[in-house]
Amino acid sequence: MKILKFGGKSLSNGDGLNKVIAIITDKVNQGEKIAIVVSARGNATDELEQILTIASQNGDYKPIFEDFKKYQQDVYDAVDLSEEFTILEKLFEGVSLIGDYSKKIKDQILSKGELLSAKLLTAILIEKGIHARFTDTRELIKTDAKFGDAQPLEQLSKKNVVAFFKQNTENTVSVITGFIGSTTNNDTTTLGRNGSNYTASLIANYLNAEELQNYTHVDGIYTANPDLVVDAKKIDHLSFNEANEIANFGATILHAKTIIPLLEKNIPLRILNTFNHENKGTLITSNSNKEGIKTLSVLENVALVNLEGRGLLGKTGVDARIFRVMGDNNISVSIISQGSSERGIGLVVAADKATTAMIELEKEFENDFYSKDVNKITVADDVAVISIIGQDLSTFHKPYTALIKNKIVPILFNNTVTGKNVSLVVKKSQLHKALNVIHGEIFGVAKKINIAVFGHGLVGGTLINQILESAAAIEKRKDIKLNVFAIANSKNVLLNKNGVTPNWKNEIQTNGFSYTIDDVIAYANEHHLENLIAIDNTASADFVTNYISLVENSFDLISSNKVANTLSYSFYKKLRKVLAENQKTYLYETNVGAGLPLIDTIKLLHLSGENITKIKGVFSGTLSYLFNNFSAKDVPFSEILKEAIDNGYTEPDPREDLCGNDVGRKLLILARELDLQNEFEEINIQNLIPEHLRSGDVGEFLNKLTEFDPIYAKIKADQKPNHVLRYIGELSGDLQNDKGNLEVKLVSVPLDTALGGLKGSDSFFEIYTESYGDRPIVIQGAGAGSAVTARGVFGDILRLSDKG
Ligand code: ASP
Ligand code: MG
Repeated sequence: MKILKFGGKSLSNGDGLNKVIAIITDKVNQGEKIAIVVSARGNATDELEQILTIASQNGDYKPIFEDFKKYQQDVYDAVDLSEEFTILEKLFEGVSLIGDYSKKIKDQILSKGELLSAKLLTAILIEKGIHARFTDTRELIKTDAKFGDAQPLEQLSKKNVVAFFKQNTENTVSVITGFIGSTTNNDTTTLGRNGSNYTASLIANYLNAEELQNYTHVDGIYTANPDLVVDAKKIDHLSFNEANEIANFGATILHAKTIIPLLEKNIPLRILNTFNHENKGTLITSNSNKEGIKTLSVLENVALVNLEGRGLLGKTGVDARIFRVMGDNNISVSIISQGSSERGIGLVVAADKATTAMIELEKEFENDFYSKDVNKITVADDVAVISIIGQDLSTFHKPYTALIKNKIVPILFNNTVTGKNVSLVVKKSQLHKALNVIHGEIFGVAKKINIAVFGHGLVGGTLINQILESAAAIEKRKDIKLNVFAIANSKNVLLNKNGVTPNWKNEIQTNGFSYTIDDVIAYANEHHLENLIAIDNTASADFVTNYISLVENSFDLISSNKVANTLSYSFYKKLRKVLAENQKTYLYETNVGAGLPLIDTIKLLHLSGENITKIKGVFSGTLSYLFNNFSAKDVPFSEILKEAIDNGYTEPDPREDLCGNDVGRKLLILARELDLQNEFEEINIQNLIPEHLRSGDVGEFLNKLTEFDPIYAKIKADQKPNHVLRYIGELSGDLQNDKGNLEVKLVSVPLDTALGGLKGSDSFFEIYTESYGDRPIVIQGAGAGSAVTARGVFGDILRLSDKG
């Protein structure tokens, strides 16, 4: 025989009840032997509790009670439920008169939910031609008199159940009330909330059932609550032990006592979805998973009681006293944490027991207050407990670090010594985000990276499209889900927590709105977005002022914008200090040489202790183009310059390239990578623009380009034979000191050197180090352009994603 148990939501009016009837009819028609255990229908138990409360406060409970009756009767007018309704009416009237009720009365009232449910279902099944029999467990399951949480008397109950089922004919389908029983005096009791599951597994045990099928409204047991963690995955198989742990840590679909009776008789339990027939659900058996299973569960209705005091340290018997107080007051402690160096003891208890706990502890420790051994007992109820079931301490640093990186600092954590569980207490406001961070980390399911892109011009726009195009492939290959949740320029922002679409350009027109950086930060917080990255593709000095608050609000930074690294050295230091304090990273590979792996290489060499003695190169693609061509061709300088301008190789005002400041900035960035403390003003920059052309507007300047010609014709002519011109940046001097020599200058070099052989608009860098001697590391290639720069920024995103 199989036992089928249906939960309250499965039995709700309409779709639910119809599906339940269909499932049962199907099985009967296929000749399966089954017995049914039911919960109260819909939210009956909650509603009865609510009506009871209102009645006891002399409130007007009647309208809700009428609704209750209407719902329970549904469209089945022919079914007679008047007996239960009449009793309820009398009980409520009595409670309302007295203004109070006992636990015993409460159990009588709550029991009606299951009785109504079983009665109705029996009648419907009989109507469908099934030989159904209403079965009231108050006559079978005998319990102690602990109303509200009664414990079955095993031998007696078993005897009753077995005897009852002996009378059954082959094709009888018993419809059994879950949750309820009675004392040996025949007073009605209940087995604790969600207790129908317990009833079902007891019956399964007594009858040696083949299997218990628990029909719920979810597809099975998940790695975390799918309502809170979108990426939660269904677990196909669990062992009894694992299921037991999950039940103990608060999973409501498993009643904490459900597993033991099944384990005892090795009866498989299947969690199924009434509403999704196809699904195989979660199967719980004695077989254990090879790799072990991990799940996250949450306890929300808890409070943290904290005892503080100098005298607690090293004092014996304190814990014993605490536990005695808890025991005497029937308060169960789910977590205790005690620092050996800190003078505090924290206890997690059910929220509704917290005040009692505090008061009773204050009584117990009254004398210790006087002696100042204890100075504070406090309660925090804005907390929740996350338990990582199946987590041992050897790899716990991973989720823990991920939490810290996301600015979630657990209030306390502890582990069980034998089992593999770690529990964390977090602020309730951070619960949602914390769950997602931990889940992403321990399940290796795609870790979500939430990205805000500032600046959507050439580089920014290209980057966004590159991300959208490769996101699917990256998720597949690297288990990283790149989610662009914000796109902004200096005026408007487009926000979408689920990620912008390829249509973002239009969307920002229609849905973009003006913003400050705080709006973006607030949005990320509000939607619990984890693993945040802000990308600065602007060239703006204004935007850089946002860096610090972004970092303080748990964003990592990436920029193609060079400003932040070339402001004063004191700002440079400050930013790095804030980054360190917040355990955040700032990457800017594209600041120099666009997508070429330059900064990373220099950083690695420097960190590994390699002594870099000189860096020299052509830092600007634009100026590379100008001088490579000018040297190779017999044409006036202005002609090449004009060509460059017309092809869009220069800034709109070409003087920004020609003045050498951009090369200077890049050189400075490399210098600071080597811990040199130079300021921008200390760079010796040879400005390529004749003095009289340096001021005035662009239009005017563009009309006077030929004035460059005589100057550069002469420079070219003055060279030694077989030499060419190159505009370079050079870092030299004793680089072990605080400051280096930074020079940006036009030089003449032999044609047959690496530098002299440069072509097109390539960037070119030589890194001289002690071990490499006079054979420098050379990095050369396209060092400009929006596509390669965007790729470089993308590279930084992947570097960051790989880190945490
Ligand atoms: N109806 C009871 C409750 O809601 C028992 C159950 O559904 O398992 O707690
Ligand atoms: Mg680079």
